[in-house]
Amino acid sequence: MRLIDEVGNAASVAVSGHIRPDGDCVGSVMGLYLYLKKEMPEAEIDVYLDKPAEIFDCISHIEDIKLEFNTDKIYDVFIALDCADDRLGNARPLFEKAHKRINIDHHISNQGCGDVRIIEPDRSSTAELLYDLMAPEMLDVEIATALYIGIIHDTGVLRYSNTSPRTLQVASELIKFGFDFSDIIQKTFYEKTYVQTQIMGRAVLESVRFMHNRCIVSMVSRRMMDFYQVTPQDLDGIVNQLLSVKGVECAIFMYETGTLEYKVSMRSGGKVDVAAVAMRFGGGGHVRAAGCTMNGTYHDNINNLSIGIAEQLDLA
Ligand code: 5GP
Ligand code: MN
Repeated sequence: MRLIDEVGNAASVAVSGHIRPDGDCVGSVMGLYLYLKKEMPEAEIDVYLDKPAEIFDCISHIEDIKLEFNTDKIYDVFIALDCADDRLGNARPLFEKAHKRINIDHHISNQGCGDVRIIEPDRSSTAELLYDLMAPEMLDVEIATALYIGIIHDTGVLRYSNTSPRTLQVASELIKFGFDFSDIIQKTFYEKTYVQTQIMGRAVLESVRFMHNRCIVSMVSRRMMDFYQVTPQDLDGIVNQLLSVKGVECAIFMYETGTLEYKVSMRSGGKVDVAAVAMRFGGGGHVRAAGCTMNGTYHDNINNLSIGIAEQLDLA
């Protein structure tokens, strides 16, 4: 299947992704935006997303993202990537009003939304899935760079178990365009600012293991974020660092988003299905990486998450 068959002769197309966009979200949204502009030069193509982290400034035309906009506009086609409509944030009314709504995602927790639903949970990333919906002859170095960033971010640089033979084939096709992939991996995935490194150190230092050391949890409060002058985007990678502790099967990281409100990230080594745990609290994700927003104290939230985790570890 080719995406262009679904987009047809639309005069206006918009692309968007989820709130707090991660690398796959930014890479796939921008990759598709650049692709549609090339495939449909006569059409009006727009892109909506929360402001991406600065590391993604290497993606061509990232400044085209509309941050402030009128939600009355009616598009012929609106494409929601890497999420269902409930996580589109401010762009959701635009999706709802569009004449044709297309949803492309790889999250197992997404039932799909809109008129055309392309949900493939076996895909490493939305970017990998998009590659197979694009006409290869229309790709260029800018589109390839964006898609490659999406793939490496959702696979931990082709390392997580969601990496399939197809993922590696797609990555191999993409690097043929000649961009400096090594530099992109370093600058968008591994490199951290000093404060990012400091707050990660603090979170690791204050982490606590429980359930016979099979789980680990840590938290960053609003006061800590103020002290280190960091934003939520600066906390990426902390939960993965916690999971790398020997013997740990499930890592939980939370940061305070409001009074008695926390954004929760979970990672699993494979035994625990963290998407199932997150879905109990209105969130979702993948078996090994999922998240949700929870209300309550830090310790209440740990207790509530622990119930679902303990059942899966046969500790309940
Ligand atoms: P992270 O922990 O990196 O924020 O997210 C891990 C995975 O879970 C990502 O695929 C992300 O899209 C998904 N995820 C995180 N938070 C939520 C949430 O509140 N709802 C849903 N449906 N998915 C989430
Ligand atoms: Mn993704």
